[in-house]
Amino acid sequence: MKWFNSVIIIFMPLVPKPIVRIFSKKYVAGDKLDDAVRAVRELNGQHIMATLDVLGESTTDEQETHLYVEEYLRVLQIIEQEKLDCNVSLKPTQLGMLIDKELAFSNIRRIVEEAKKHANFVRIDMEDSNCTTDTIDIYERLRAEFDNVGIVLQAYMRRSVADLTKISRRPANFRLCKGIYIEPREIAYKEPSIVNMNFGFLLEKALQAGSYVGIATHDEKVVWSALRTIDQLGLKPDAYEFQMLFGVDEQLRRILVQAGHRLRVYVPYGKQWYRYVMRRLKENPQIAIYVLKALFKK
Ligand SMILES: Cc1cc2nc3c(=O)[nH]c(=O)nc-3n(C[C@H](O)[C@H](O)[C@H](O)COP(=O)(O)OP(=O)(O)OC[C@H]3O[C@@H](n4cnc5c(N)ncnc54)[C@H](O)[C@@H]3O)c2cc1C
Repeated sequence: MKWFNSVIIIFMPLVPKPIVRIFSKKYVAGDKLDDAVRAVRELNGQHIMATLDVLGESTTDEQETHLYVEEYLRVLQIIEQEKLDCNVSLKPTQLGMLIDKELAFSNIRRIVEEAKKHANFVRIDMEDSNCTTDTIDIYERLRAEFDNVGIVLQAYMRRSVADLTKISRRPANFRLCKGIYIEPREIAYKEPSIVNMNFGFLLEKALQAGSYVGIATHDEKVVWSALRTIDQLGLKPDAYEFQMLFGVDEQLRRILVQAGHRLRVYVPYGKQWYRYVMRRLKENPQIAIYVLKALFKK
């Protein structure tokens, strides 16, 4: 079946956008903020926290970056108005990092400053390896000024252990994930079992350093190893949270919540869904087959 998945991945970019749009419904809350608010309310009703992501990345037009800032400010306002248990996640390239690093810094700073006024929190997502150094730099400058900002470390990156040590000099709030971009072997582990071991190693190191960690995975092997570390360190449930993506493994979500762990779901919304959904489908081509089957059943 592995070869079949590889074939699906190669041909995925040829799939017409309206078809990909069908798959998007699984991973994206909708086009509008109202759709996202509805999804978050439903999650909160199941004792699940959320993080809202305005879809968009690799922006090349400065004016567009300002529109994204305005949208995030609106999101923060609505979260407070609607009393949602929800923070926000954003991408530096969406906010101008490919145009000018200082533009991205000042855009993200505005959002973090506004979040602070609303007693809320901003997570800076980690994109491909061309962005890692600048993203960490932006985070460190913001963290020197604000305590309501966090970053992401990717377990597949060889540099992550050094980055963790550097960032942990101040109390930090990390999201730890495997990493989704395609990176060369020189800088990233390619062997899945090593990525999993590095995930466990980084998690233990971060928790031991007193960081709050968002354990972002749907891999039960990684979840099990995280639960073992949490138990060994005798941590209370407020020292960490599990994080999962909208549309992925709702059963595992329920298992973790029922066991008393905090859980947050990443809820993306907006018109720029194409790249996000293509990454998700490449991660799990099996889903494409399920969706097609479901279509034909109808
Ligand atoms: C909350 C959150 C935030 C993230 N933020 C970032 C980020 O900032 N930067 C970054 O590089 N990556 C990010 N990721 C993606 C992450 O790096 C992984 O690519 C992704 O989570 C898949 O890895 P996994 O740990 O779930 O393990 P995998 O081994 O990939 O998956 C384990 C199992 O989960 C299920 N699964 C996984 N993905 C899917 C899917 N798309 N559809 C259906 N089932 C699926 C499958 O059953 C699979 O067997 C984030 C992930 C999460 C959960």
